[in-house]
Amino acid sequence: MIPYGKHHIDSADIQAVIDVLENQFLTQGQQVPAFEQALADNCNARYAAAVNSGTSALHIACLALGVSAGDSVWTSPLSFVASANCARYCGAQVDFVDIGPQTRNICTTALAKKLEQAKKTNTLPKVIVVVHYAGLSCDMQAIRELTSPLGIALIEDASHALGGMYQGKPVGSCEYSDACVMSFHPVKSITSAEGGAVLTNNAELQNQLRLFASHGITRDPQQMLGQPDGPWYYQQIALGYNYRLSDLHAALGLSQITKLSGFVQARTEKARRYLDAFRQLPLDLPVETQSASSAWHVFAIALKQHDRKEIFVRLQQAGIGVNVHYIPIHLQPYYRALGFEPGQFPNAEAFYQQALTLPLYPDLSADNQQQVIDAVIESLS
Ligand SMILES: *Cc1c(COP(=O)(O)O)cnc(C)c1O
Repeated sequence: MIPYGKHHIDSADIQAVIDVLENQFLTQGQQVPAFEQALADNCNARYAAAVNSGTSALHIACLALGVSAGDSVWTSPLSFVASANCARYCGAQVDFVDIGPQTRNICTTALAKKLEQAKKTNTLPKVIVVVHYAGLSCDMQAIRELTSPLGIALIEDASHALGGMYQGKPVGSCEYSDACVMSFHPVKSITSAEGGAVLTNNAELQNQLRLFASHGITRDPQQMLGQPDGPWYYQQIALGYNYRLSDLHAALGLSQITKLSGFVQARTEKARRYLDAFRQLPLDLPVETQSASSAWHVFAIALKQHDRKEIFVRLQQAGIGVNVHYIPIHLQPYYRALGFEPGQFPNAEAFYQQALTLPLYPDLSADNQQQVIDAVIESLS
């Protein structure tokens, strides 16, 4: 079976992990800050806080921005459930903004309308988590222009988009957001096995992120209540978590990030080959926009004339590891139980009905990709 996504590990990655095993610190050593620095440099952001998953990163980003019970957080229905769950962890309400059918990202017009409505009813969100679907950045400038006057904070869920660009700058620069979240799960742009990070340009936010990622404990006297008892002293000043990334994971991430541009280039070349091969077929293909170039996390097509289940099964039987990104979050039983219903976000639901993800990863061989292309063409004929 040709998988839909797969990591690339080389001997340098392996050696980097072995080196940590042979050294003093398995965790809380020097690999984590080195990885954080490399991430921040790579993304043109001032700070990076590395944690043990993208989901943890979303959670502490919400906490650091003050999300709590009584608040509302909006996100895209076309995402992995973690984009919404992070708000629920903080006790906040979740709502969604429908996607635009072309970019498959939050539709700026739908957002403007929903904000207008919410302003009238005094139900504006505290934070919006925008999702760069499949690696293509949302129109961040337009979204910031809508939300900034209303005092709404923005988190980018860039779990798909490390290595992508927006307005000529790397995704993660946080030019139009308060924080940007990355994931290093093996199917993402780079991997640390499990891992994630929050990027920000805001020093105060970075302090809060660090606090929530490690028990709410500080060793900084300036943050303490009263004076330290002595050099051993620390204080817990908030309720945090143990979301720390280990040095083993950080060393792998640090080794991987040196290969990021090569990975994204390989993904881009393969994506363009699919685009060329499928141009004449009855499919909606992924797009790039004037302002954004994709990191090509996944290659998702929408079947305009064919039954998705039929084609999915046919391709699976041909040894193609197809997938579907995503079942709209509001249709999950957990969110249905909170009151969401089919029909509320029609573009996301329509896309889901037709969506099919094809294999795309740096090591996908030309032969295997041809096999996928042939199988797609045949299954549609
Ligand atoms: C992968 C992913 C996450 C979660 O990342 P983990 O590292 O697996 O916790 C969150 N949001 C989106 C859009 C993702 O694709």
